[in-house]
Amino acid sequence: MDEVQQEFLDIVVQVKAHLEYRRALGLSFVEMPSSRGPRAAAPHASKVTPVKTAYPSGEEPFAAQPGGLAAVSEELGDCIRCKLHTSRKNIVFGEGNPNAALVFVGEGPGQEEDLQGRPFVGAAGQLLTDIIVKGMQLKREDVYICNIVKCRPPGNRNPEPDEVEACEPFLIKQLRAINPQIIIGLGNVAVKTLLKTKEGITSLRGNWKTYQGIPLMPTFHPAYLLRTPSDKRLVWEDIKKVIAELEKLRRE
Ligand code: URA
Repeated sequence: MDEVQQEFLDIVVQVKAHLEYRRALGLSFVEMPSSRGPRAAAPHASKVTPVKTAYPSGEEPFAAQPGGLAAVSEELGDCIRCKLHTSRKNIVFGEGNPNAALVFVGEGPGQEEDLQGRPFVGAAGQLLTDIIVKGMQLKREDVYICNIVKCRPPGNRNPEPDEVEACEPFLIKQLRAINPQIIIGLGNVAVKTLLKTKEGITSLRGNWKTYQGIPLMPTFHPAYLLRTPSDKRLVWEDIKKVIAELEKLRRE
């Protein structure tokens, strides 16, 4: 097979994965880019490369984080700042591209994440990976994935306020180090913590917010989607807004 044939085959495989993902969401149609109005989601958003531009909100972005993610991880160390350390197997610091344009923030590690020391590798993680790879046409390693708390709350309960308080400085430093163009907040705990709001995810989702000058899209947590698959459509609506914004930033 020559190079052109291989490229064509790669495109067919990507389009097929994307269509399968859409079918899983119950979507039977494909939006075509319009010559008028905003462009639909780019089918090959993996071409989206991080471009640092002015933040749309006009707020100043974070100050840079000296030493980047490595310094944050070193400062976190073998953390014993809250009671979660007593039951954890591994700290789940976060993983992905240290210069990612897009960061996903979840709630906290579950059992599988605790065992592996990696974020979103259980059932909810598989769904998040599908959203990134099949839906957004990105590679998981193109984005950065982390959580509000870095140790598993026992029995997967919500993190308690003292645990969030102990861990939040490290999340802030991680986000400073990465300085992404867009943050996606996954679920109630993540979004309420980031935005310091009592408003629930059902009313917040799909509406752009800002976090320290960085556009933030609140959406449902993948674990919720496993329980309520009919709401995958709503998440896809939110994700399409993110794809369109990344594409717009790339063109600017
Ligand atoms: N749920 C989360 O919020 N984070 C993970 O890393 C895994 C499941």
